[in-house]
Order: sequence, then structure tokens, then C-alpha cells
Amino acid sequence: MNSEDGESRKMVVCVDCGSAYAAHERPDGAYLPIGSPSGCSCGGTIFDPVDSETALEYDESDQASPDE
Ligand SMILES: [Zn+2]
Repeated sequence: MNSEDGESRKMVVCVDCGSAYAAHERPDGAYLPIGSPSGCSCGGTIFDPVDSETALEYDESDQASPDE
């Protein structure tokens, strides 16, 4: 993981349709989806940040344990 690229990148979701994007956080606090600078494909331009660490954290308790 390279966390020293000098860019603040977050996962965000469109408040209108819920589509998820990787986005840059701008100094004014808004989010600009990477690759979608004009906003969401639904036309929405307001995004809520999500905690990517939480979003990517699955409950693995149901998976087979390698040290079973
Ligand atoms: Zn949308």
C-alpha cells in the first residue's frame, strides 16, 4: 500500500442513487469522483464519504479456518 502519494482518496457514495466511487477530497470539503469529474452518472454531484476500512471489512467468521 502506498499511502504517501500526497493525495487524499476516499470511497464515497452518491446521495441520490448510492453508486460508489473513489474520490478525491477537495479543500472545500466536497468530493470529486476519480474518473467522473462531472459527477455521478445519475447526474448527482453530492457524495457522502464512507469508511472504506469498514466497508471492506468482512465478517470472516463463517469462512473455513486454515488452522482448523
Ligand atoms: Zn448517483
